[in-house]
Amino acid sequence: MTDLKYKRIILKLSGEALAGDQGFGIHPPVIKTVAKEVKDVYELGLQIGIVVGGGNMWRGESGAQMGMERAQADYIGMLATIMNALALQDNLESLDVPTRVQTSIEMREIAEPYIRRKAIRHLEKNRVVIFAGGTGSPYFSTDTTAALRAAEINADAILMAKNGVDGVYSADPNVDVNAVKYDHLTQMDIINKGLHVMDSTASTLSMDNDIPLEVFNLNQPGNIKKVVLGEQIGTTVRG
Ligand code: UDP
Repeated sequence: MTDLKYKRIILKLSGEALAGDQGFGIHPPVIKTVAKEVKDVYELGLQIGIVVGGGNMWRGESGAQMGMERAQADYIGMLATIMNALALQDNLESLDVPTRVQTSIEMREIAEPYIRRKAIRHLEKNRVVIFAGGTGSPYFSTDTTAALRAAEINADAILMAKNGVDGVYSADPNVDVNAVKYDHLTQMDIINKGLHVMDSTASTLSMDNDIPLEVFNLNQPGNIKKVVLGEQIGTTVRG
């Protein structure tokens, strides 16, 4: 049995992770690659819950900036996450990875409603559970959903898969040549140094519940596997 750093994880995939270079919508070759990466980790015997974002289609905040009512715009964003979840499920199942999509907004014809105990049961039966629809409430994010679901299912860690960024830096590495990457941080460091890893609601929730975060670059093949096997490739936030 492979030595795993974590036995049960929440993998947070942003909507962007499914869009590829075009930056919008679902790009089939990209989602296939992501599904393959998840399958490689699944085969190690890890229990995997995935929280998927929707920013590749819609962000409530942008809708509000264009004059929409914020809550209404957020519901559109939540529906976008469900579309992404279905696409991800399709790709995982085509690779013979058993999955269940659970939505926080009921849509029984296409997915199960979110039921915590049922989600845990699926994980125990080695099914990947995709948590869609965010928290089901406007004004929140899918980062917050990741922290919430991680706490609810007793996940050992949240894996924050980033697009092209390989960890947490002291400043934006694309702007500041002196920016340094941190290997290890505490949750307090994040606050004290004013670093941005998740939005503040998500950060507080993961800190209050002692959930470690692993921040790493999704675009490098094999990275999810490296993280769960304990290789230090990105930034680990804990304590
Ligand atoms: N959203 C929401 N409540 C939630 C999760 C998401 O209202 O609990 C909406 C919000 O409008 C957000 C959109 O869904 O902009 C897409 O989610 P997010 O921005 O977190 O996606 P990501 O950036 O991870 O792709």
